[in-house]
Amino acid sequence: MFQFDNSYARLPDRFFASVYPEPVEGPKLIKFNQELAEELGVEADFSDPARLAAILAGNVVPPGASPIAMAYAGHQFGNFVPQLGDGRAILLGEVVDRNGLRRDIQLKGAGPTPFSRRGDGRAALGPVLREYIVSEAFAALGLPATRALAAVATGEPVYRETVEQGAVFVRVAASHVRVGTFQFFAARGDNDGVKLLADYVIERHYPELKDEENRYLALLRAVALKQADLIARWLGVGFIHGVMNTDNMTISGETIDFGPCAFLDEYNPMKVFSSIDQMGRYAYRNQPGIGQWNIARLAECLLPLLDGDEEKAVNAANAVLTEFGERFQSEWLTVFRRKIGLFSGADGDGDLIQSLFAAMHEGKADFTLVFRRLADAAEGRDEAFLASFADTAKAQDWLTAWRERLAGEDRSGGERAAAMRAVNPAVIPRNHRVEEAIAAANYGDFSFFERLLEALENPYDERPEFADLMAPPKPEERVTQTFCGT
Ligand code: AMP
Ligand code: MG
Repeated sequence: MFQFDNSYARLPDRFFASVYPEPVEGPKLIKFNQELAEELGVEADFSDPARLAAILAGNVVPPGASPIAMAYAGHQFGNFVPQLGDGRAILLGEVVDRNGLRRDIQLKGAGPTPFSRRGDGRAALGPVLREYIVSEAFAALGLPATRALAAVATGEPVYRETVEQGAVFVRVAASHVRVGTFQFFAARGDNDGVKLLADYVIERHYPELKDEENRYLALLRAVALKQADLIARWLGVGFIHGVMNTDNMTISGETIDFGPCAFLDEYNPMKVFSSIDQMGRYAYRNQPGIGQWNIARLAECLLPLLDGDEEKAVNAANAVLTEFGERFQSEWLTVFRRKIGLFSGADGDGDLIQSLFAAMHEGKADFTLVFRRLADAAEGRDEAFLASFADTAKAQDWLTAWRERLAGEDRSGGERAAAMRAVNPAVIPRNHRVEEAIAAANYGDFSFFERLLEALENPYDERPEFADLMAPPKPEERVTQTFCGT
């Protein structure tokens, strides 16, 4: 089924623990991503569904796999934990996809590993479906993220706050190397490990840096800029990751771990959904600052490789951190300029965007709809945009300022609206719709899950049959808190 070539398993033993998935009682395929399978060159045999489900649940380890749990450490909510590791995920192996890119095939929830400590190594159906929905929504939106190859029911209960149904999520990633993977070796004073890992990720993710004079500094910079771009794009779709711990930040620049993540409905820059984020560390607006903090932790790991002279190494790392901030700012401006339909840049654009945010915050406007309806305003129809705000006067003033700015660009309303609709989604995985899909699935009805996935395949299209999925939550539908629920 998979043409495996497992480069990570060829690294020294201390990088991982070899471990086989623990078979489950009654594996049953919930969903298989055929389009992604084709991209990966993965051949699924649907004539034998029992065997297919058995492979995807970890009951049958396919030929060529070398199952391992990866070692990593991480800062969780600012506190350093020297050993985390894959506690409920097993990397089956790697495949090289149709574009020549190496991708990990990982089973999440496939049983205990030496890194499990207190956990059971299992995943519940709800979080598996959430990760499926949000990762595929990210792909369709064009945002870098790990992907969903399959979801499989295990036929076994998992014990969380309540008894839930167990499931396995088959995750595809450019790699699962995280900032925390570097921290694992650095915390042990294992500089050879850090160097081996750095060389590994340069080869795998940044081969163009191999011949740089200071390849490790170039690596730090490349990772930093990728993360700055990624977070700017998160903000562009109103995404709140929820657990930006260093073990949940990839080196490849893909978004990973869709746990208590959520999308803004009413705009509020300090919005937090995650039940475990009581201090608001990972609030919407804090994400770029936290991204930079995480990159600083990566820089600390790489310091010995940056320069033999410690002061020079620190200065070089600090320059990268400054660059992170600048890059985030400029990418953020680019993202939001496009969202408000600008084709060019001018002084004052940042203020114009901020004043829209102020009106949205005050007017309790729905983040996604505001930008989508602004495209209508570009064609002269202001009503729906204005109706998104509790207080239309501020929104009206903003439209006036916006039109003054637009007057400096020679573009037709139709051209502008089309460009805006291509970057401002109509359909996002709204929190209440994700919850609804999970609740129905818990009762054995996967039709909501399927329908939501179908709508999210074309997030920039407004299709009348999915109007209900575009609408903001009614007050009683609003999700106020999300849970890791792993
Ligand atoms: P996460 O919150 O998914 O980033 O996970 C943080 C750490 O907790 C990782 O080391 C996981 O492997 C571990 N972990 C989370 N859930 C479980 C579980 N059910 N069983 C074992 N380990 C877990
Ligand atoms: Mg994680």
